[in-house]
Amino acid sequence: MQLITGQTIQKKPIDCLHFINGEYQSSVNYKTFQNINPANEEVLGTVAEGGAEEIDLAVQAAKKALKGPWKNMTANDRAVVLRRIGDIILERKDELAALESLDTGKPIWLSSSIDIPRAAYNFHFFADYMRSLGTEAYQTDDVALNYSIRRPVGVVGLINPWNLPLLLLTWKLAPCLAAGNTCVIKPAELTPMTATSLGKICREAGVPDGVVNIVHGFGPNSAGSALSEHPDVDAISFTGETTTGKVIMAAAAKTLKRLSYELGGKNPNIIFADSDLDEVIETTMKSSFINQGEVCLCGSRIYVERPVYEQFVEKFLAKTKELVVGDPFDPKTKVGALIGEEHYQRVTSYIELAKQEGGEILTGGKRPAGLDKGYYIEPTIIVGLDRNCRVVKEEIFGPVVTVIPFDTEEEVIEQANDTHYGLSASIWTNDLRRAHRVAGQIEAGIVWVNTWFLRDLRTPFGGMKQSGIGREGGMHSFEFYSELTNICIKL
Ligand code: NAD
Repeated sequence: MQLITGQTIQKKPIDCLHFINGEYQSSVNYKTFQNINPANEEVLGTVAEGGAEEIDLAVQAAKKALKGPWKNMTANDRAVVLRRIGDIILERKDELAALESLDTGKPIWLSSSIDIPRAAYNFHFFADYMRSLGTEAYQTDDVALNYSIRRPVGVVGLINPWNLPLLLLTWKLAPCLAAGNTCVIKPAELTPMTATSLGKICREAGVPDGVVNIVHGFGPNSAGSALSEHPDVDAISFTGETTTGKVIMAAAAKTLKRLSYELGGKNPNIIFADSDLDEVIETTMKSSFINQGEVCLCGSRIYVERPVYEQFVEKFLAKTKELVVGDPFDPKTKVGALIGEEHYQRVTSYIELAKQEGGEILTGGKRPAGLDKGYYIEPTIIVGLDRNCRVVKEEIFGPVVTVIPFDTEEEVIEQANDTHYGLSASIWTNDLRRAHRVAGQIEAGIVWVNTWFLRDLRTPFGGMKQSGIGREGGMHSFEFYSELTNICIKL
């Protein structure tokens, strides 16, 4: 296949099959759907379209595997397998990065320098971390000794979004396996390729058959809903839209499944006048436009203290105009293509809405010149909007930010919290007391001070309000992926 730059990255169609009980399989009725390259709208290949039957086959394989060799492995042996998965991902980094960029439209530098290495690190981290955790023990006077033991939850459904496909899938899969569970993965229908490769990698690394199963398909009335309501699935870890989370919760309620949710965000990026503006702008370029703004943590609501508002806008605008939008495989590209037609329409409709709501588009807001095929939108800065506008309140999930001035600390805290989301926030200030004071009042699961997206995998990750339920990361992942039994011995 010829990409826009004329490079030949893909010579033949890449077809994606389910991975059930250690084998690649078609759907029972051979049903498939097409996988479209968002960068040029060409067909990349076909994807097996699973539904209730394939999900049931996968769940039964996972249930059986809970009692097999996986159960009898020590935590140390499982850690060896997990480390090997991480090693193989790194060995195949270039191939996996190319697949990820073909599927998502994201720049190849991003896939190869962040997404794929981080996917490997998820396995390396949880392989070792889980072995370092202990459990509680209490002596009840001289009457009894209590201690807790952990065991796997059972069969876990892992339902994934398209924006960071392998990174987010492995963020769930690594702790899920380290805690001894088996699983059924439902990758996003728009990005099936790296998940498909992961089946083979797990097999090569020594994961027993049936422990990791992958079923492709859509969400509603398809593989997603079948997994959410399957009676033999004990827990669901879901990352995706808040509205989808509500539907999955209703389906999972019938069998009271344990749920972990990482949902949408509309995150404030709060810039006080005493911060170092050059440093702020360097990071704000990333928190606004990296991965085409298709990151749940993107700081798409920018609030700037009035004394530096004009200066910030001028510098930020100049830097944004320098961003190269285009072919994901061109090393000069900083912003690639949006994921697909439907999402492109959604993002452009918000830009139109911004105009109707009285906003001024300082830059962007349209398809870049010369890119007639593919789902490209220029990075877009909008000013002049009122805090109550829909564009300021709703998640757009594209390269679109709003910039609003503020006068007082109280006012900006109130505006930052005026949303049903509560995922993350960034605060920029050189005043230490203010940093602590404001950080403690922002309603978000993660608050960064003078930085953005700096992650330590031991820390709790997740959102409050309608941005999520529970936390993953470090011991929090272990809490979700394991069951506790307290044993009380009378002395
Ligand atoms: P989505 O909710 O549309 O889809 C996510 C997954 O859910 C897909 O695999 C889809 O097939 C499946 N699904 C859809 N409907 C379903 C149903 N009825 N039953 C079961 N499964 C169903 O989300 P998306 O568009 O793929 O991802 C973008 C969203 O994800 C954004 O809102 C973004 O903020 C959020 N996100 C959050 C985080 C986080 O860590 N909080 C990380 C990445 C993305």
